[in-house]
Amino acid sequence: MRRAVCPGSFDPVTNGHIDIVSRASLLFDEVVVAVGVNKSKSRLFSAEERIEMLTRACEGFPNVRVDGFSGLLTTFCQDNDVIAIVKGLRAVSDFDYELQMAQMNSSLAEIETVFVPTSPEYSFLASSLVKEVAMFGGDVSGLIPDFVNEALTTRLAEQRG
Ligand code: ADP
Repeated sequence: MRRAVCPGSFDPVTNGHIDIVSRASLLFDEVVVAVGVNKSKSRLFSAEERIEMLTRACEGFPNVRVDGFSGLLTTFCQDNDVIAIVKGLRAVSDFDYELQMAQMNSSLAEIETVFVPTSPEYSFLASSLVKEVAMFGGDVSGLIPDFVNEALTTRLAEQRG
């Protein structure tokens, strides 16, 4: 069983994430989408909400499951017999940090990092930008699943009070 992990904060999941997960699911026997639940960063959606949205978004992929993790990703990998971390690369600007992280992770544990190039239609897509655009009333409907768009609209309205 060759198991890989797609890690991230997924706040919220975008079509770019789903693209990488679906492509990873063709390369490995099983893919675990691992949602970082560290409390340090402030998030728009709670860990439970992010996991729930991802689970729904990944329903169509039989060999994909969603889990939360806290602490080191390499520890999660060791505990779950994961052999590879799959990361999407959007632009050269992602590369410096991702290379450093991949090398650090392989020094911590016997774990390979596999970089998958983003599909061109998603190369500008980031959760942070989606939130910013939505906050100012921009249409992000083609960039995230419909049910995520609804949750985002509701959460931003709640925040506005
Ligand atoms: P984090 O908050 O940990 O930086 P995200 O949750 O935004 O990460 O994304 C998780 C991972 O998903 C990223 O490290 C990257 O590998 C991948 N990713 C994010 N956005 C895209 C995209 N538009 N296309 C392809 N991969 C992406």
